[in-house]
Amino acid sequence: MTTHFVPDNLPSHLQHYIGGKFVDSLAGETFEVLDPVSNQTYATAAAGQTEDVDLAVAAARDAFVNGPWPKMKPRERSRVLHKIADIIESRDDELALLESFDSGLPIKQAKGQARRAAENFRFFADLVVAQHDTALKVPGSQLNYVNRKPIGVAALITPWNVPFMQESWKLAPAIATGNTVVMKPASYTPLSAALWPEIFEEAGLPEGVFNLVFGSGGVAGDYLVKHPDVPIVSFTGDSSTGATISTAAAPQFKSLSLELGGKSPAIVFADADVEAALDATVFGVFSLNGERCTAGSRVLVQREIYDDFVARFAERAKNIVVGLPSDPATEVGSLVHPNHFDKVMSYIEIGKSEGRLLAGGGRAEGFPTGNYVAPTVFADVAPDARIFQEEIFGPVVAITPFDTDEEALALANNTKYGLAAYVWTNDLKRAHNFAHAIESGMVWLNSNNVRDLRTPFGGVKASGLGREGGYRSIDFYTTQQSVQITLNDAHTPKFGVQSSRETGDA
Ligand code: NAD
Repeated sequence: MTTHFVPDNLPSHLQHYIGGKFVDSLAGETFEVLDPVSNQTYATAAAGQTEDVDLAVAAARDAFVNGPWPKMKPRERSRVLHKIADIIESRDDELALLESFDSGLPIKQAKGQARRAAENFRFFADLVVAQHDTALKVPGSQLNYVNRKPIGVAALITPWNVPFMQESWKLAPAIATGNTVVMKPASYTPLSAALWPEIFEEAGLPEGVFNLVFGSGGVAGDYLVKHPDVPIVSFTGDSSTGATISTAAAPQFKSLSLELGGKSPAIVFADADVEAALDATVFGVFSLNGERCTAGSRVLVQREIYDDFVARFAERAKNIVVGLPSDPATEVGSLVHPNHFDKVMSYIEIGKSEGRLLAGGGRAEGFPTGNYVAPTVFADVAPDARIFQEEIFGPVVAITPFDTDEEALALANNTKYGLAAYVWTNDLKRAHNFAHAIESGMVWLNSNNVRDLRTPFGGVKASGLGREGGYRSIDFYTTQQSVQITLNDAHTPKFGVQSSRETGDA
């Protein structure tokens, strides 16, 4: 094992960014930020309280009402977004280093996520220019068109698993469409979020369009969601937090997008390309340290190939390179935080009485400290097991056999979640019919999780509400006002013209 890598020029304190200025919390509160390899505090961050959120929302509101951004032509906004993408691309090595240091994600995968973040900005920069709306003519009488408008101040609340990319996923469409934002990133991983102000300033984003408040979900996040000057909330995180946010936002009828947890099935039929299915199912649950909302964390395998598949899966898991996040050879790094490590380890203990342990089963060998979990495989897991039903969000897989298509479908749909699903079969009819019957927002057929940015992203059941991605993001971050003009006589029935005597009424 090489030595722990600490990036140069690491900040020792992170501040909010409000109205174009770096500021501490008014009351001076801070929280500590750990790195997941040493679990030592490497920085403090300002902990936003209600008065700090008030300032951030006021700055965003001012930029929305009085600033140039919402009124700019899409092409002008698009230029700024392309510059943002250029800057992210030019800094992707540095970004990935910081992200990997702060989150424990393997550096190679962090780099891929940094590139994806740049692509999000480029994509929405192009989309707002290409964007057009319906205009309808009713011959001779009426013209109708859609006046699409930004909504106002958007609250963007993000998780810690792939923080910078998740943030870009919300920031790009929110600002591309002319809104202003207040972002509250996850408190485990504030480091890469602290890079946005510099990137946005360099790209020429007007002051006040982007505001950043660090702090806890229960204080800063909750207050932001309930703020009367915030009409729109985009949240990614745990399903139970999503339920709390939904309740908090309901009395003010806010536009709400919830991207929540998952326990996605990967179903492998005996007729599949087993080699490809093996590659994808191993990658699907162990990439990004298993801290992935769309992880295929339940693998359902048809009985004919079950024993062989399970043995080969376990062999692969044992060979996975667990290592320092900064090492390019690392396939699984360190989980984000000791609290999360404890949670994943407790599920592994539960799993030992619920399934047959074939690989892993605890702390990774050779790593006495840090949040390293050995890639863990449980086979023969029954559908009522907790490790089959509950999101673990770590490198832990539950494998279950099935015999028929009906049984596979019942197993696939047998959780409260419905985010993603992966189906492996060479039978075209079965592939489509099975995909359509699965209760999930997204299905991949004979593929790992490769998503074109134009496609809708989101879940059903406890995995979320609403869709983002491509034009769905444009729809979420804008309001569509329909305007009708009469071109001829309006032919309005004339009320109140006839006298009561003429109509014969008493
Ligand atoms: P979390 O719900 O604990 O926190 C997410 C964010 O919400 C953080 O910024 C947190 O501070 C904030 N928050 C917490 N309580 C809040 C409240 N009451 N009001 C407002 N904000 C509040 O989730 P996490 O542990 O950071 O992330 C892991 C979860 O995210 C997993 O369940 C994972 O599946 C999910 N996730 C989903 C997707 C998706 O697109 N569906 C993507 C990534 C992660």
